[in-house]
Amino acid sequence: MSERVFNFSAGPAVLPLPVLEQAQRELLALPGVGASVLEISHRGKPFTKIHNEAKQALADVLGVPENYRILFLQGGARLQFSMAPVNLMRGTGRSADYVVTGSWGKKALEEAQREGAIRVAWDGKSTNYDRLPTADQLDIDADAAYVHFTSNETIQGVQFPAEPDTGDVPLVCDASSDILSRPIPIERYGLIYAGAQKNAGPSGVALVIIREDLLNRSDDGLPSYMNYQTQAKHDSLYNTPPSFGVYIVGLVAKWLRDEIGGLEKMNQVNRGKAEMLYQAIDESGGFYDGHAQADCRSLMNVAFRLPDDELTARFRAEAEREGLHALKGHRSVGGIRASIYNAMPVEGVARLRDFMVAFQASA
Ligand code: PMP
Repeated sequence: MSERVFNFSAGPAVLPLPVLEQAQRELLALPGVGASVLEISHRGKPFTKIHNEAKQALADVLGVPENYRILFLQGGARLQFSMAPVNLMRGTGRSADYVVTGSWGKKALEEAQREGAIRVAWDGKSTNYDRLPTADQLDIDADAAYVHFTSNETIQGVQFPAEPDTGDVPLVCDASSDILSRPIPIERYGLIYAGAQKNAGPSGVALVIIREDLLNRSDDGLPSYMNYQTQAKHDSLYNTPPSFGVYIVGLVAKWLRDEIGGLEKMNQVNRGKAEMLYQAIDESGGFYDGHAQADCRSLMNVAFRLPDDELTARFRAEAEREGLHALKGHRSVGGIRASIYNAMPVEGVARLRDFMVAFQASA
């Protein structure tokens, strides 16, 4: 198969076509370099330029203030589940608060608990993670080392419309599945991290944006790779960085900045795409049963169930024949999950919406 399908994978996920085309053109030789990004030293001039441009493009689209550092690390979001507590909590004598709105928040919590005492500020397990806490349900310790939340739960399709209010306690966010999908006020965060493989690039690189003053919290005794201060001091080049990933993230950020016209524009497109699918769910008379409560719905991952397993299997098989791929829901939620990240074309979502309507009519 050489034709591209509409790929609704939750991650690694669809990337912007112009980015793939540029990477393809440059795979044998970067202009003026004569070798590809896969083959050059991370300390030479060409990679330094790629690295600096990636940081600049991210800073431009996200509006990252001067007092923040942008790092490119390996180990995915999962290593950040550990790096956040060991750097930001260890030695402070304080606990950290975790807001658990889905499977990934729960995993982040479990990893942090290996480091020390953690308070659960809210946990949505009792309703199988279909909602967010209201402001008065959040139990924040004003003395916490930080508050951790997951801006978008990829499996349950639950997304914070805005940051929870945590007063002066630094906000730490796993933004793996919605970073770069909308503007966010970076100055409200202490640390944002994201595995790149949904909205930002390929797997193998994680983005870390950290407020500079928090680097002082890192204990000298930490393993060097896991020390934010070491990583910042070496500008992500403490060891060989995930250079191909940095290159692709740079192309994605430039695509957002220069072709899409910024995150406000991207957000508008994303809203329109999500609206199409949620409307199909809401107008199906219960045939499609959305997992998330209406006011907590994700613009990135649309999770819904059909009346039974047989219909679900038929839905997926027939969708695939229409070129609509990777729609299987996660086993903890069941049903269907359509991941509609930045790079999913509007046309792909419209095709899925039309398919949903036609499938229901034929069922
Ligand atoms: N957090 C979220 C919200 C995720 O969606 C994922 C990956 N699906 C992870 C963390 C784990 O990311 P990684 O595989 O990069 O460690």
